[in-house]
Amino acid sequence: MDIIQLQQTLRTFAADRKWEEFHTPKNLSMALMVEAAELMELFQWQTPQESLATRLNPTLQMRVGEELADVALYLLQLADHTGVDLDLAIADKLLKNAKKYPRADEPTTTLREPLRTCAQSP
Ligand SMILES: [Mg+2]
Repeated sequence: MDIIQLQQTLRTFAADRKWEEFHTPKNLSMALMVEAAELMELFQWQTPQESLATRLNPTLQMRVGEELADVALYLLQLADHTGVDLDLAIADKLLKNAKKYPRADEPTTTLREPLRTCAQSP
């Protein structure tokens, strides 16, 4: 799928319904989080092992796909309405993550940044 083409499709979809005024970065970011919460709700109360079996449950897998699509659509719209080049932002972030988190088999001369735990979170 082409990101720019998808963003244009979403702009047209919103324009056809006169929704442009509601598609502010504030509203789109909130909608993105609501859809992420709907995705999370599908796994609420499952054990880690049960969640790993999602691919064996066609009904749950379909619902996960729907929520992932909702998240992706709002993500694309938020990037569009903030002028963020999502291709570039993702490429930059992958590079930053590779530098920040060296491969496990990569010798390092400095101490690695420890993974944060819940107890260390603010
Ligand atoms: Mg949804």
